[in-house]
Order: sequence, then C-alpha cells, then structure tokens
Amino acid sequence: MQIHHKTHLFFILILTSLVVIFLISCSKEIHLSSKTPLSRQNFVLGTIVTISLYDSDSEELLDRAFNKLTELENILSINKTNTVIDTINHHAGITPVEVDEATYHLIKKGLYYSELTSGAFDITIGPLVKLWNIGFPSAHIPSQEEITNKLPLVDYHLMTLDDSTHSVYLGKEGMLLDLGGIGKGYATDEIAKLLRAEGVNHAIINLGGNIYTIGDKPDNRLWTIGVQNPFNPNGDSMGTIGISNQSIVTSGIYERYITAEDGTTYHHILDPSTGYPFTNELAGVSIISDSSTDGDALSTATFALGLENGLTFIESIDGVDAIFITMDYKVYTTSGIKNQFKLTNSEFTLCN
Ligand code: ADP
Ligand code: MG
Repeated sequence: MQIHHKTHLFFILILTSLVVIFLISCSKEIHLSSKTPLSRQNFVLGTIVTISLYDSDSEELLDRAFNKLTELENILSINKTNTVIDTINHHAGITPVEVDEATYHLIKKGLYYSELTSGAFDITIGPLVKLWNIGFPSAHIPSQEEITNKLPLVDYHLMTLDDSTHSVYLGKEGMLLDLGGIGKGYATDEIAKLLRAEGVNHAIINLGGNIYTIGDKPDNRLWTIGVQNPFNPNGDSMGTIGISNQSIVTSGIYERYITAEDGTTYHHILDPSTGYPFTNELAGVSIISDSSTDGDALSTATFALGLENGLTFIESIDGVDAIFITMDYKVYTTSGIKNQFKLTNSEFTLCN
C-alpha cells in the first residue's frame, strides 16, 4: 500500500513536471512566433538605428548594444573630437599613431578595398568629404580651386600601416581618414557578434538601411527585406529579398545630397580623381553578403564602378551578390540571388 502510494505520488510529480515543461515550451513557442519583437530605435553613428530581437525580451541587452554603438562612434567618427580616427588625422604628416587591434584591422580592410578598386573607393577620402560636407547644414558646392587644392591629399598610397605595432600613419599634413563608407557595416557586424554571444538567434539590426539578419525568422523561413527605392527617400521599397544570416547594404543617390541653385543635385559618393560626385547610370546598389563590413565597403565601391564594371566586379567575388538600379528604373541582379529577389514596384523593369 505504502509503495503503491509512493508510486502514485511519483507519477503525479512526473505529470506535473511534464505539464510545466509543456507550458514553458508553449509560451516560448508563442513568444517566438509572435509578430512583435522587442525593438528599440535611437540616433547614433549619424543615423537612425533600429534593433529588433525576436527571441529575447532583455531590455538590458538592448542597453548594451546601444552602448556599444556609442563606444564605436567615439572611436570611428570624424565628426567628433578625440576619436581614434580624429587622433590619426591630427597626426597626419607628423607621426604614426598606435590604435587598438579591432580599429587597426578595420582601417586595413579599408585599405584593402582601396587597393581592390584601384582607388575608386579610397579610405583617405576625408578632405573631399569635409569640403563638400554633404548631409550637414554647412554643405556647399566647392569652387574648382578648393577641389584642386584637396585632390593631392586623397591617396591611400600615402598611408602606412604597421602590423607589428598596429600603427597608422597618414604621410601628408591635411590628409584625413574617413570611415563613412565602411564604418556602419563594421558597427552592424559588431552588434550581431554581441547579440549572438548572448544567445540571440532571431534578430534584425538596421543602421540607417545597413541591415543584418541574425538567423532566420522565428518560423524558420527567410526574412523578407525590402530593397530601398533610390528615387524615394521616404524609405519605401521597390522589391524584396529573402535572406538569413546575411547583410544587405545600399548606397545611392537618395541618402545624402545637396541641390544647387540651377537644380543640379550632388550626392555624397565622391570620385577621388575629380573631387566631384561620381556620375554614372546608377541610382543605387544593394550588396548582399555575409559580412556587413564587406557589404558596406562594396556598396560604396560598386556604386563608384557603375553598372557594367560593377556587375563584373561583384560576380568575381564569391558569396557576394548585388542589385543594381539605374537612373532609368532598370534593375539588374547578380546570378546568386535571381530566385531570392522579387520586384514589387511596377515603375521598375527587371532586366536579367
Ligand atoms: P551611407 O553611409 O550614407 O549609407 P555609403 O555607405 O555609400 O552611404 O557611404 C558614403 C560615405 O562614404 C560618404 O558619406 C563618405 O563618408 C564616404 N565616401 C564618399 N566617397 C567615397 C569614396 N570614393 N571612397 C570611400 N569612401 C567614400
Ligand atoms: Mg558604404
């Protein structure tokens, strides 16, 4: 009898535990499949940042992610004093500056893309960027003389990197590093790393259109990400792409530009050889890649290369794809994403 009673209790216990386990897993299921993630939006690194967690409800984790972004801004910005990049720039033509390992590798990556594009992307573009100052209230169209004076200061060949000391030297006074074309991608990757290390498996990080998807959607399907319409700055999309564990980064004419009195617009991707914005048939390029740092640098670089050279360039890089949008509303995609990209706006024509 005693034994029987004990067995009875034992079964009740087991049953209760099973019910509890079932309820916990159910509530997790409910949370996972719910459409409303834990989201936060803030202005940092010169742009609107949104982080959306689909399998975590930790406000504290979001605090840490945004603190990390502020930390990175204090390292990478050229619009703040005493950042690491600002210090390197202040010592241009004077002395090499030792920097932390992560920043050193980012600058080295900037140099890599400068070399890869023979200087269409140039990490020392700073003097021209500051001269135009597009995106800031003091933006203006410089005189030819002002541009001519700055051109000799933009040349990645004049930058020396020392792997043994992690030091960076800009060889001429007045030179300025500018990580504007790669920094947001790097920051995106750093946030993805932080969130993953804390067990996040489903999340979207968006740094002003520089997007990274962690994992897939909670229902195990690909994330559907809108591709920016380069003619509409209000954030509407012209197509969608399905991705997971990948980044999509767009460079285009819409983001930052100024308009002259005669109506001519000047956007913010500058040709290091002329000092003026690149003018080609492209309105925008979106890069799909595993690393957002690569995607960011490549979006700026590919925009600079134009449609034909840009297509060849991206097809030559393994694991990287692109969507090109021309000024006459034509859309071209590279071979790797033909099935993932869907046009949703009938003003555009898909030309694959
Ligand atoms: P955004 O940062 O506005 O999203 P991009 O990633 O295309 O757009 O980067 C543009 C930024 O890159 C500019 O604001 C400037 O800081 C920098 N930049 C402009 N022209 C070049 C260039 N030829 N090479 C490298 N960086 C550039
Ligand atoms: Mg870029």
